Amino acid sequence: MPLLVVGSVALDSVETPSTCRDNVLGGSAVYFSYAASYFSSVRLVGVVGEDWPEAHTELLRKRGIDTAGLQVVPGGETFRWKGKYLPNMNNRETLEVHLNVFETFDPQLPADFCRCPLLFLANGSPTVQMRVLDQCGGAELKVADTMDLWISTQRDGLLELLKRIDGLVMNDSEAKLLTDDENLVRAGHKIRELGPRFVVIKKGEHGAMFFSEHETYVLPAFPTENVVDPTGAGDSFAGGMMGYLAEKGNFKP
Ligand code: AMP
Repeated sequence: MPLLVVGSVALDSVETPSTCRDNVLGGSAVYFSYAASYFSSVRLVGVVGEDWPEAHTELLRKRGIDTAGLQVVPGGETFRWKGKYLPNMNNRETLEVHLNVFETFDPQLPADFCRCPLLFLANGSPTVQMRVLDQCGGAELKVADTMDLWISTQRDGLLELLKRIDGLVMNDSEAKLLTDDENLVRAGHKIRELGPRFVVIKKGEHGAMFFSEHETYVLPAFPTENVVDPTGAGDSFAGGMMGYLAEKGNFKP
């Protein structure tokens, strides 16, 4: 079953305790698509500027990802994010965000993209996420991700979005920020009561928690000794989850 993802496509600069990398391929929709492509066909919608290296698009195409929905804005600059990981590699600081062409992104989806039964609204502004929902409201499974920037700057829009989706995936610190509750079990249920039928809270190396009306469970993470760069781990997790559901096709309630 085809899976549609809309989200950020970025050039990232990342500092880890051992190294720094500048302007590398990143973005929520990129990590998501790459992981999901191991399970199902993926259609990507995003926006980049003229500074975007064509080789990155080629890399995605080589994984079979449909990049027809990747807009290139003439004269524009690609979204850039700069982050620094603390020695525990779980916590990070955002040093810079330059939305650039992502700020005015107005996705216009090709008709066949709108017919995808599964939709993932990867990290991006709730305004843009809702514009996508307006075009793909008929999708059978609509899941979104969000992060601290949007919780802090577009909370009202985010609350509106939550009423229109089936599931939300977010990390532990974002769940606490959204609900103003330090207890993740309470936070998970509070978010569910805001609209989505299920909520997945990611806890980095400690796995993830799932919340629905009748189920609450915890899944461990694969134990890894040598963590090099966790950027995009959350998006890749969501890509694996949604890709698997698309492959199985049995995600209905
Ligand atoms: P993750 O490590 O899974 O939380 O995702 C990291 C990716 O999210 C990076 O590649 C960034 O380019 C992208 N990103 C960072 N901030 C934002 C934002 N505010 N909106 C959308 N994508 C973002």
